Amino acid sequence: MSDRETKTDVILIGAGIMSATLGTFLKELVPEWKVTVFEKLESAGEESSNEWNNAGTGHAALCELNYTVEKPDGSIDISKAIQINEQFQLSMQFWSYLVKSKLISNPQDFIMPLPHMSLVQGEQNVAFLKKRFEAMSNNPLFQGMEFSDDPKKLMEWIPLILQDRPSNESIAATKIDTGTDVNFGALTRILFDHLKSKDVDIKYKHSVNNIKRTNDGSWELKIRNASGNIERHTAKFVFVGGGGGSLHLLQKSGIPEGKHIGGFPVSGIFMVCNNPKVVAQHHAKVYGKAKVGAPPMSVPHLDTRFIDNKKSLLFGPFAGFSPKFLKTGSMFDLITSVKPDNLITMLSAGAKNMSLTKYLIGQVMLSKEKRMEELREFIPNAKIEDWDLVVAGQRVQVIKDTEAGGKGTLQFGTEVISAADGSIAALLGASPGASTAVHVMIEVLNKCFPQHIKEWEPKIKEMIPSYGLSLLKNPELLHEIHTSTAETLGLSKKELVSL
Ligand SMILES: Cc1cc2nc3c(=O)[nH]c(=O)nc-3n(C[C@H](O)[C@H](O)[C@H](O)COP(=O)(O)OP(=O)(O)OC[C@H]3O[C@@H](n4cnc5c(N)ncnc54)[C@H](O)[C@@H]3O)c2cc1C
Repeated sequence: MSDRETKTDVILIGAGIMSATLGTFLKELVPEWKVTVFEKLESAGEESSNEWNNAGTGHAALCELNYTVEKPDGSIDISKAIQINEQFQLSMQFWSYLVKSKLISNPQDFIMPLPHMSLVQGEQNVAFLKKRFEAMSNNPLFQGMEFSDDPKKLMEWIPLILQDRPSNESIAATKIDTGTDVNFGALTRILFDHLKSKDVDIKYKHSVNNIKRTNDGSWELKIRNASGNIERHTAKFVFVGGGGGSLHLLQKSGIPEGKHIGGFPVSGIFMVCNNPKVVAQHHAKVYGKAKVGAPPMSVPHLDTRFIDNKKSLLFGPFAGFSPKFLKTGSMFDLITSVKPDNLITMLSAGAKNMSLTKYLIGQVMLSKEKRMEELREFIPNAKIEDWDLVVAGQRVQVIKDTEAGGKGTLQFGTEVISAADGSIAALLGASPGASTAVHVMIEVLNKCFPQHIKEWEPKIKEMIPSYGLSLLKNPELLHEIHTSTAETLGLSKKELVSL
């Protein structure tokens, strides 16, 4: 068999954080399985997982206001926040295992401690934030959360935001010190370097064009290589981790589970501060409230980031519309994703989301000065010359028919779509995204390898001690995991002294 035609156990499509996480799991669980990765770009972590293409928030529901909703009776529903926090704890444990097993040498290469804050203005919003704080701060998962509407306290927490504000403004914030900034690009690259050292065959500049089932139930991939030649590679299991590119590949596989599903691309733009004096005045991720009509992924936030060993300051993301499914994708991505089986779903979604589409197109047209006006709601004296625009990644939101929402309902979460026999799985959607890669890949393992899960369980528990348990219901385990992951990942105050 030539290099252009191989048979292997596992093929991972795409070299983003999702394939990196699944590959690392498989190499720990079944090191003897042969794994090949095909990535169309020149290196790993270049699309959404790249540090400049996402916001780097370790989403643990410590600051994102859209994870808690005010119910009609005025009480606050924190169930989604609990779910996301529990999922993030799985990532923290897995990453700690990787550090303990010396697979990652320096955790600060990809994760840094950073206070997570929610900030609101106006009396009604302040009252909401206070109620939300009361509902969350007694919950062990959110222990340590503080609330303040005292301008002096807020000045200590976020001087850059408080300076030059009218003294009569009603403003409040919550703060929790156990938040993180995660460089998912760096983490992806670290994991791919590790996979290479474990004999995983990683083929860059190899674009998967087609996927079809063979007579023996395996999957044959048609791939265009760096020289433009066609290769054919077969595997018993395929993970479609193509990010925005996954929907087209899922459709090509023809599995019935992939029918009646569509995608809606939302693009992102950040503003990055180029003035070190301004950057030095801020140290937190500060999430505000989404504007009326804005999708949840365009909640504005002002974030300290740690990229290339340097502290940076980013504001955004401004959502926008582009028909591309990947930043490096094609203008025809959206139109070619419409198939006979999802036509009604897509048309219904189009009709339902006219106002969202209009909003997104309006956002694309915003001038830099208009974007500065939004930034000035956070930093009143922000100067245009201190800020540059950077184009972030594309997020392809899932569109499907649901009982609750009817035909063509836009989803804001991630979904694992797998064949009934578990031989292929694809990840669609992008939120909460990279932060919950570990949770999502455990779902892939459960869906696709049910016959192995029992035998793998002891190793999974070694990597993730809380696997299968609710941390909320096991407060002692929660305390132990909080303490040990913070120490191993270098996030505790004690560890920080040496940074
Ligand atoms: C603006 C923005 C902000 C975000 N903020 C956060 C955040 O703060 N926190 C968070 O946790 N998540 C965030 N996310 C989401 C997060 O970035 C993604 O969920 C995550 O990076 C997706 O990883 P992935 O591996 O699925 O996809 P990607 O990283 O996009 O990787 C997919 C790879 O597949 C390759 N590929 C695609 N098609 C093919 C093909 N046919 N053949 C071969 N290779 C192919 C691509 O080139 C790419 O390298 C954000 C995303 C965006 C866009």
